[in-house]
Amino acid sequence: MFELRNITAGYDTGTVLRDVSLTVPDNATVALLGPNGAGKTTLLRVASGLLKPYSGQILVDGVDVTGAAPHQLARKGVIHVPEGRGIFPSLTVADNVLLQSPPGRYRQGLAIATSTFPRLGERARQIAGTMSGGEQQMLALSHAYVGNPHVVLLDEVSMGLAPKIVEEIFEYLTDLGRRGVAQLLVEQYVGQALRMADFVYILDRGRISFAGEPGEISEETIMNSYLGSL
Ligand code: ATP
Repeated sequence: MFELRNITAGYDTGTVLRDVSLTVPDNATVALLGPNGAGKTTLLRVASGLLKPYSGQILVDGVDVTGAAPHQLARKGVIHVPEGRGIFPSLTVADNVLLQSPPGRYRQGLAIATSTFPRLGERARQIAGTMSGGEQQMLALSHAYVGNPHVVLLDEVSMGLAPKIVEEIFEYLTDLGRRGVAQLLVEQYVGQALRMADFVYILDRGRISFAGEPGEISEETIMNSYLGSL
């Protein structure tokens, strides 16, 4: 279980998150939705140790890890997939996996990457930068699942991709969720996120304005809330 408790955080320019609490149970996919500028990316940065909160706690399986550096949190299985694609475009798919796999675990890394996203197996020898945007996103995502993560923090993985490929990527992520990977998903595609999530939080101007199951709120209500507040 991954938990944020009463997090208040921000930048020199001002406070962004105010008393935010959120739980990602084991084996659950949790969607974090909200209008532009609400603080979703900031919350993921706090969750992965990139930004120290002013107050509040981060807990992994009940252990307080507040203040831990990103690499320490990564070692505890808190894996952040930031916006944009962190791949080496001039290297092959296989070499990208090699560089991202834990030392001595390349074969295992490749096996996990290609079983997670079978298309990568077909393209192992292709130069990563020549793949489609969707395939590059799959390669970037595959790194997150190689080290047997505790929770994967996904920031707008659909960004800049065609709806059809987004659907495909979401099917993979849903499948990973069912196989027991806890996921915290920040997403603009509200409908898709509601379909795959077990639990939904809406962040509005730095505060949680809704927490519940997807069946308790409609896409329309959420979209309307983006224009005003809930
Ligand atoms: P979007 O959906 O547009 O990506 P978001 O919900 O992810 O938005 P954040 O990116 O967390 O929102 O931004 C929340 C607020 O914090 C915004 O007002 C933004 O301008 C501000 N902010 C983000 N990063 C920084 C930074 N490095 N320094 C100062 N202010 C920042």
